[in-house]
Amino acid sequence: MHRMDRRYRVNTALLDRLRTELDGRRPRRDLVVSGAQGPTVSVDGEKLVNLASNDYLGLAQSPEVLAAAQETMRGQGLGVAAGRVLCGTRNVHSALEAAIADLVGAEDAVLYGSCFDANLGVFAALFGPDDVIFSDALNHASLIDGIRLAQAQRRVYAHSDLNELERYLTESTEARHRLIVTDGVFSMDGDFAALPQLVELARRYDAVLLVDDSHATGVLGGGTAEHFGLRDEVDLVTGTLGKALGGAAGGFVAGPRAVTETLRQVSRPYIFTNAMAPPLAAAALTAIHLAAHRPELRERLAANTSWLRAALRDLGYEVLPGEHPIVPVMLRGGTLAVEMAAALRREGVLVFALSHPVVPIGEERIRVQVSASHTREHLEQAAAAFGRVRGLLAAA
Ligand SMILES: *Cc1c(COP(=O)(O)O)cnc(C)c1O
Repeated sequence: MHRMDRRYRVNTALLDRLRTELDGRRPRRDLVVSGAQGPTVSVDGEKLVNLASNDYLGLAQSPEVLAAAQETMRGQGLGVAAGRVLCGTRNVHSALEAAIADLVGAEDAVLYGSCFDANLGVFAALFGPDDVIFSDALNHASLIDGIRLAQAQRRVYAHSDLNELERYLTESTEARHRLIVTDGVFSMDGDFAALPQLVELARRYDAVLLVDDSHATGVLGGGTAEHFGLRDEVDLVTGTLGKALGGAAGGFVAGPRAVTETLRQVSRPYIFTNAMAPPLAAAALTAIHLAAHRPELRERLAANTSWLRAALRDLGYEVLPGEHPIVPVMLRGGTLAVEMAAALRREGVLVFALSHPVVPIGEERIRVQVSASHTREHLEQAAAAFGRVRGLLAAA
């Protein structure tokens, strides 16, 4: 609980402005979950089917992943209290970088504290004012911020609009380098980047292609490129260890050795920060191993996803088509999505509504996220809850 009676010696003009701005917003409080994250979670003593996490392969509670972290903590302690370039590098960091490179089909990989950090670090280290960066309008916030830090020229093309991208490419022949940047899987719609076409454009215009595969690494094997059979065609991949690969923390940039060596020399969020805690690196390493050697995890994830997609459609919901475990249930207009999410919570299902400004007005939705850890019973419970709250649709 926050103490309300405290007097801060802070500039009152600042506090006045912040209070006014907060008053104008819809209040959002972070949900507090107790216990472990898994196919179900506890919120305020209620057990809810968890359709809101990025733990796509269910590895966050894997006994092997937890044992790897515990064993490493016993041997090496928790943190290293130093950056990678000082005394913060352990064998497990190097082993994890090699495993990531292997997974995504790159020569090498560089670890960061998170994918947000990786995206903040990669552009500024490699590109400058003589370069042009082309960015999809729905790219993740960390890509947007990272690109800003590079001080390169920027061109934002409408989401997956290859004609607009090509027009921009033809208009930038003076550039030293041209870089196309895209999410591999977009988190709002669960749709894939048009990778075959992007690869083709990158080839034709001699552009570099960077894919942020945070929602795809592990979920689609090595990622979006592998999904499309284009494993050797993407120059740079960034991704997270905080989603399918154990869900703890960590991010990476993978690519040719000249790139990764450059990042180790000059990338500020690599150099000027603490190294990843070795137990977390060991956990991620084990998660990558399991993702690669247990095909049944991906099979169960695919089966769960298609079962729930079909069940929601059969109930009359508008489900955006696709095959990714991000399942957008469209509840367009007003506050319907928010009301539905609240009603589902009362019915024992944890989902979140996405409303303006996260999505455009008229594109409001509930984002359902499926995991390999869900049993058929969990999914049936969720579908039944969606059935019980359907009345809200008619009322809207
Ligand atoms: C989740 C996500 C990130 C951030 O990853 P963290 O490791 O949690 O910082 C970056 N990019 C995309 C596309 C994401 O979905």
